[in-house]
Amino acid sequence: MSGRAAFALGAIVAVCGTADYANDSMGGATCTPAATIVTEPAIPTQGALFRVRVRNVAPGSQLTGSVAGEALHFSADSIPESLAAAPIDSPDSLTIVVRCGGSDSIVARIGTTSGNYPIERLQVAPAFGRPPDSATAARIDRESKRAVGVATRSHTTPQLWVGPFRHPRDARITSGFGGGREYNGAITSRHMGTDFAGTTGAPVLAANRGVVRIVDAFFYGGNVVYIDHGAGLSSAYLHLSRQLVAAGDTVQRGQTIGRVGATGRVTGPHLHFIVRYGSVTVDPLSLFAVAGDSSGTRP
Ligand SMILES: [Zn+2]
Repeated sequence: MSGRAAFALGAIVAVCGTADYANDSMGGATCTPAATIVTEPAIPTQGALFRVRVRNVAPGSQLTGSVAGEALHFSADSIPESLAAAPIDSPDSLTIVVRCGGSDSIVARIGTTSGNYPIERLQVAPAFGRPPDSATAARIDRESKRAVGVATRSHTTPQLWVGPFRHPRDARITSGFGGGREYNGAITSRHMGTDFAGTTGAPVLAANRGVVRIVDAFFYGGNVVYIDHGAGLSSAYLHLSRQLVAAGDTVQRGQTIGRVGATGRVTGPHLHFIVRYGSVTVDPLSLFAVAGDSSGTRP
């Protein structure tokens, strides 16, 4: 008897679900009452990528949304999902907004956790190099704007990346993301990329498929390559001795795009690798964690 009761209850739930879908298709643009935002990990790390999934949406829903001012790009799966970024300086919570079409939206507020990036606390004022002259300052500003331009443009590029992202070098990591220097309670600088070891001339590989947007010589970055992977993701490869691609090229995952070097502001040859979701710079290792595989040597 109890088994039959449970079956009846299940049937009622199913009927309710069907009714909801019918209402939604008639309205054309509403979230189902059962629609739920789920994140993975449940509590994202500041300075890292995470996944946003929306459960119980009407089939065929065209979801849009945003986290920390950056658009989300949902897959067409039955449980649509998107990558999202928690900025390194984000507050202890983030608001996720998902629109199912029109003005109807669901909102979730989630906690974030510190990345516990190492901070070097300086007792004396950091020694600044000679400040750049005005022409150099203007050049640095121009180059920074071009880099940000690639990052923001990636939101309007369709997803070009396929399968898992790979490390740009099969090499040891010599300096991780996020490490900072603090003086008088203020963080004066942070390492916003991951450094991979390499001697001059060693190969640098594209982390995934994408379109090359910048091949140039920058003041700080030296010889650089910037790749737009689409759906909000871009990557950059700095201090190269040689660039083996041109702006506009479509490159494949694992393609050799340049050679390790020591150009720009560096003390020795290595690869400085940058990953951005929209304009938010994130820990590249978080990209491998949420959308990577085991290729490439782990630290
Ligand atoms: Zn670096």
